Amino acid sequence: MRDPETSPLDPPDWQALAALGHRMVSEMLDHLAGLREKPVWRPVPEAVKRRFQAPVPERGPPAEEVYAEFLESVLPYNMGNVHPRFWGWVNGTGTALAALAEFLAAAMNPNAHGADVAPHYMEWQVIAWLRELLGFPAGASGILLSGCSMANWVALAVAMRDRAPIDLAAEGIGALPRPMVVYASDQTHLSVRKALRMLGLGERALRVVPSDAELRLDLGALAEAIARDRRAGLLPFCVVGNAGTVDSGAFDPLADLAALCREEDLWFHVDGAFGAAAALVPDLRPLVAGMESADSLAFDLHKWFHVPYEAGCVLVRDREAHRRTFRITADYVESLRGGIAPVDEPFRDYGPQLSRGFRALKVWMAFRHHGVEAYRASIARNVRQARALEGRIRREPELELLAPVSLNIVCFRYRPPGLEDEETLDAINERILVRLQESGVALPTQTRIRGRFAIRVSITNHRSRSDDFDRLVEAVLGLGRAGR
Ligand SMILES: *Cc1c(COP(=O)(O)O)cnc(C)c1O
Repeated sequence: MRDPETSPLDPPDWQALAALGHRMVSEMLDHLAGLREKPVWRPVPEAVKRRFQAPVPERGPPAEEVYAEFLESVLPYNMGNVHPRFWGWVNGTGTALAALAEFLAAAMNPNAHGADVAPHYMEWQVIAWLRELLGFPAGASGILLSGCSMANWVALAVAMRDRAPIDLAAEGIGALPRPMVVYASDQTHLSVRKALRMLGLGERALRVVPSDAELRLDLGALAEAIARDRRAGLLPFCVVGNAGTVDSGAFDPLADLAALCREEDLWFHVDGAFGAAAALVPDLRPLVAGMESADSLAFDLHKWFHVPYEAGCVLVRDREAHRRTFRITADYVESLRGGIAPVDEPFRDYGPQLSRGFRALKVWMAFRHHGVEAYRASIARNVRQARALEGRIRREPELELLAPVSLNIVCFRYRPPGLEDEETLDAINERILVRLQESGVALPTQTRIRGRFAIRVSITNHRSRSDDFDRLVEAVLGLGRAGR
């Protein structure tokens, strides 16, 4: 008989739940260890989709049965980004230790908005580590967020608040005397456009600057656009530079952009979602030169740092500007002279959220255990793999490289000698990609480079080995030849 004072939300038998938990841990770790032999991805069967249309249960079965449903209907139909041959979009692989850290954080379940608790100090430590790794000064602020989209949004909110000629926090954009505008290359990620929508500036506030043959922002075109907008009475306030574009991994000339922003008195923001990680590797550091002088830097921890989703970060050079944008008080969050709430720098003052999860633990445990060395090696290895794949594509007469390989992204297509028609090539390559994904052998995704359909292999995967890329090339060649 259950004690009527005990909530049914606690386990009826803690030891039984512990035994189930042990099983979950060991089965998930076995699953991760055996991934290479399984398909990268498989479509979700109709029966499984139907299962997720069941009504909300009034009473539930034992936890073991719910876990069995997970094993049957959820685990096999995963995204595949944990797999050694997943190279879609820009996705991290995750690490086993950081996955365990997620459990620890959830079991502790603190609300990390700012109180005198260890998670608060740990998050500031994580921010300090990231600041140091990416070359930001000790006074800079930062916060962990859900991802780089939110990080870009926070940075642009701070930039706008800082550069607006009015008190934007009080008066809002309706009181702006002139429209505020932002500059970024035509290769910039959609999250910047989304941020402008959410800030109320609208997508047209983004002045899209053309990119050159290397897909890097064209500086001359940028300077002209700024001058033109100033003459037209607009208020330029920010330039977004890319450290690794989403299509091809290109790096804008960040040092030149930093200098231009200084001269023009503009906020310099860098979107380094995955490319910021190049700062860890000495050979790659020239690519990010100038990033350290940005006013703000957005990047992800769930991509090349392999922290499980979700985790991104923004760093802001001017701590006061950052705090002014988000700080807001009320009696119930005031700091007292003692007790639980006296912290100086609550994270609620640095971002949009009040209640926040304990994201810092998975980041802290991963860096604490793996060390920067392991990340450096894994990032450098992915870049070597991208270069090796580029070389193989250049040597294969039936394959064509579609964009320069700047870092870790390889865009190519199947192109049998003699076939010139672009529309036909687009259609052939789309078919090859879909079949490849459905085969479960490897999973790249697509983009368009100057309008042409490209198979896009984005390598932020610490599990990939060189023979995984051989399997990719052979599968593409096989599918291409079979379709002719
Ligand atoms: C992934 C990505 C983003 C958005 O980050 P999320 O973590 O998906 O929100 C922004 N910019 C670039 C260049 C990206 O690759």
